[in-house]
Amino acid sequence: MARKIGVLALQGDFAKHMAMLETLGVETLAIKKPQQLEECDALIIPGGESTTLTKLMVKYGFYEPLREFSRRHPVMGTCAGAILVAKDVDDPRVQPLGLMNIAAKRNAYGRQVDSFVTDINTPMLAGAPTFPAVFIRAPKISAVRNGVEILMSSAGEPVMVQEGNILAVTFHPELTKDNRIHRYFLELTSD
Ligand code: GLN
Repeated sequence: MARKIGVLALQGDFAKHMAMLETLGVETLAIKKPQQLEECDALIIPGGESTTLTKLMVKYGFYEPLREFSRRHPVMGTCAGAILVAKDVDDPRVQPLGLMNIAAKRNAYGRQVDSFVTDINTPMLAGAPTFPAVFIRAPKISAVRNGVEILMSSAGEPVMVQEGNILAVTFHPELTKDNRIHRYFLELTSD
């Protein structure tokens, strides 16, 4: 089990991820500077605005340290974080980290349904058969390429994918009481 989990705390709902991790009894660290990554065993990139996160990550010099970190440690990107871990993004204002062989399309569910909750089948998680997934101006994973496994789909769209120790989740698992996705992520740290 991991000792300390970092949550990128430049913008977005990092506090909710930290609160959920604390319910699982793990120590957390709000990451505001790249040097803090050295203290962590894994990192969550939270939801927020991928354009704003891009600007802040450039400003504070996160790109290379974070790519280096991901070669040795698990990283989970949720919603805007899922956009940032992708290789390709449809919006040139977003500079993705390219940690995963996927393409992401921002705000892909359209205006009418840009926020919704839906129960998703979770064959890979023990316990309840579904997970209550909260989508908020969510992206779609528009291409899943070599080496990437689809862990969950909703209405035919991949919504949680994994490549090695990197996870991308297009919804907000930190906004429910169901901590199974966070537990799944923590298990990757013990490999
Ligand atoms: N729409 C946001 C973006 O494109 C993501 C929304 C979210 O993280 N809840 O970055």
